[in-house]
Amino acid sequence: MTIRIHFNKPALVGSELTYVGQAFAGKHASSDGPFTKQAEALLEKRFAAGRVLLTTSCTAALEMAALLCDLQPGDEVIVPSYTFVSTANAFVLRGATPVFVDIRPDTLNIDERLIEQAITPRTRAIFPIHYAGVACEMDAIMDIATRNGLLVVEDAAQGVSARYKRRWLGTIGHLGCYSFHETKNISCGEGGALVVNDPALAYRAEILREKGTNRRQFMRGQSDKYTWCDVGSSYGPSDILAAFLMGQIEHMEKIAIRRGEIFDRYVSILAPLVERSQIRIPVVPPECTTNYHMFYLLTADIEERSALIAHLAAAGIHAVFHYVPLHSSPFAQSLGLPQTDLPWTEELSARLLRLPMYFDLTDLEVEEVANSVLDFYRGRCAQ
Ligand SMILES: *Cc1c(COP(=O)(O)O)cnc(C)c1O
Repeated sequence: MTIRIHFNKPALVGSELTYVGQAFAGKHASSDGPFTKQAEALLEKRFAAGRVLLTTSCTAALEMAALLCDLQPGDEVIVPSYTFVSTANAFVLRGATPVFVDIRPDTLNIDERLIEQAITPRTRAIFPIHYAGVACEMDAIMDIATRNGLLVVEDAAQGVSARYKRRWLGTIGHLGCYSFHETKNISCGEGGALVVNDPALAYRAEILREKGTNRRQFMRGQSDKYTWCDVGSSYGPSDILAAFLMGQIEHMEKIAIRRGEIFDRYVSILAPLVERSQIRIPVVPPECTTNYHMFYLLTADIEERSALIAHLAAAGIHAVFHYVPLHSSPFAQSLGLPQTDLPWTEELSARLLRLPMYFDLTDLEVEEVANSVLDFYRGRCAQ
């Protein structure tokens, strides 16, 4: 069966192609051109963020964050096992060791009540991720970090334009990391940003991003020679990508509104299944404002999930699951980490299914997907 309704599709929402044309026509196609500066400034203003630096991906921003935390071999970093590999790879590349903590069953975010007991004298940082654009319990996490002298790096890859209380995700920890990957709410194909909230880290962040040079300070006239100052890499995207991204950032609200409509439509059509406790849908605590990054449902178990994926596929609908918990991966196993008990991570990662969600998804398509899910459960009642 060919796929008729894709899981994700990139969308044009504004002046992306016009801006790309302008970036080509201008004389600056490499990083840190006029569109990079505009996009960074707009994100800083929009999110009341200290310093925003565009990067080639969220993975790159996380790697910069791990460098800025000055992590050394043997240092420990607290992280959920239920996350994308980049969250952990960023600091494993520095020789630091992941200490996995279980997730909350409601939001699937790191369970803040389990963090304190995972702290040892070697703990240096906490890398929480805001799953599905719903914030972690950041007040508790920041309080634990302050009392224990730890740095907090928010993996806000999925959390761009979502809030915790009145604050924008990515701006609460010492550092925050955004993704503009094709599958995220705001996208330029591959892209990201590092949000530097601790002003003490801003100078070094610019140097790391410029291959370890003070080029950025030099261009601003703050330094009289352009030279090698530190380690670093090429973390800045081409201005052509920044131009595309600018076209999306300008329409952040429009994107959030459309995703919210899709989300609400799924909720209302699937309500009978939720009432009968056949499935569970995302929970958004009152202190969180979601950006509707994802619509997922939780099936009864892994067998039911596989059957539902097959049922949707037979109807031409592509639905996907993630993540294979990091602690159970071959690589984590090879690190020989101590065994930890992560019951919610193991259970919920086996039950979670993501339904199609993207800007251009039509109401009819949403109805078709949701009705196909209803169909599947109708069939199961009859069994
Ligand atoms: C998408 C994602 C990333 C990686 O983002 P890239 O921009 O593709 O590098 C990292 N962490 C989480 C939680 C993500 O969802």
